[in-house]
Amino acid sequence: MSGADVVVAGASFAGLAVARELPGRALLIDHQDVGDGQTSACGTPISVLAALGAATSVQETHGDLVIHTPGRTVRWPLPEPFCTFDYRACCAAAYRGLDAPLLRASVQGRRGGVVRTSSGDVTGRVLVDATGWRAVLSGAGRRPGRPRGFVGFGLEAAAPVPFESGLHFYFWPDLLRDGYLWAFPAGATTRVGLISYRARTQLGPALDLFLRRLGVPPGPRHGGFLGGRFGPATAGDVFVVGDAAGHCLPFTGEGIRLAVRAGGVAGRLIADALRGRIGLDEARARYRAFALRARRSYRFLEWVTAASLILPATVLGAVAAWASRPGPLRMLMGHYLRIFSPDTGERP
Ligand SMILES: Cc1cc2nc3c(=O)[nH]c(=O)nc-3n(C[C@H](O)[C@H](O)[C@H](O)COP(=O)(O)OP(=O)(O)OC[C@H]3O[C@@H](n4cnc5c(N)ncnc54)[C@H](O)[C@@H]3O)c2cc1C
Repeated sequence: MSGADVVVAGASFAGLAVARELPGRALLIDHQDVGDGQTSACGTPISVLAALGAATSVQETHGDLVIHTPGRTVRWPLPEPFCTFDYRACCAAAYRGLDAPLLRASVQGRRGGVVRTSSGDVTGRVLVDATGWRAVLSGAGRRPGRPRGFVGFGLEAAAPVPFESGLHFYFWPDLLRDGYLWAFPAGATTRVGLISYRARTQLGPALDLFLRRLGVPPGPRHGGFLGGRFGPATAGDVFVVGDAAGHCLPFTGEGIRLAVRAGGVAGRLIADALRGRIGLDEARARYRAFALRARRSYRFLEWVTAASLILPATVLGAVAAWASRPGPLRMLMGHYLRIFSPDTGERP
């Protein structure tokens, strides 16, 4: 039986961020090679990539969100620059900076401190679940095959053409009534996709129509569920991070920033516990408290999602136009970008 001080299941955004804080102490387990299996449109603040040591993977930087509703387009200048990046290059760069072996195996569950994998049992003093919405280590009893609750289901195509700069969001109910569509330019390609808040998985025909309306050619497709409902940040002794803990934000479906920030906090607290500065129970309690501080923001965004399902798109357009004024925009984006911010203090 192999083992490590810290066993991290899942080697994507959340798992890599945890392992980064634990040089020489963590073992990563993933059923794919690092950087395989992209699901995301890969739009995030540049500071998030820097935190992962992966700033070299940036493909294009963006200073604005561009909100399209029927008959109206509004630009929201971003208070900090966002970027689109290459998922494989990001994970490879983040992993290169780590001192953590990777076990290529499928995690099947756990018994106490023992993780059961397709390559045998692995022991860890500390276990971290960073397996995305499947929450393989901590999600015992959840409905198999779908997240508990959900943020949505998304599908996107990598169109082999550039696009006007900015992160473009489209609320076009004639194409999609229960979500939004996007076009994220990433250098020579543009990620064109859509998310259904009701987690409908049959989104191919709507994506075809959207590509045609934008006048861009189709490209390779990928997609998946976005997170589960915001839940406890620990499950028994296990630290739960990223989509596994429902950290992907409702309404926007942004999950990378949250996975990386929560992963960093969990990793630092675990490191403190391994050094004997605090007990492991205290590390878990502090991590739970850190996550809980954002609970109201998650609930608020769930309400916004529910409202967007019933409000006409013209009303959403009017709200977006109002919010593009400097005062409201500063307030909205300030709150939004502070969710899980290190400034909110991770050590109560
Ligand atoms: C279509 C789409 C577009 C999106 N676009 C954006 C975007 O532009 N910006 C943004 O911020 N967010 C976006 N998101 C959300 C974002 O992708 C997620 O929130 C983010 O990937 C969560 O990171 P994570 O590390 O928690 O989980 P994941 O990225 O899902 O990683 C989970 C890891 O666990 C591994 N794993 C799973 N099960 C097992 C198992 N049984 N055994 C071993 N390993 C396992 C997987 O291989 C994977 O490496 C998008 C999501 C979708 C579906």
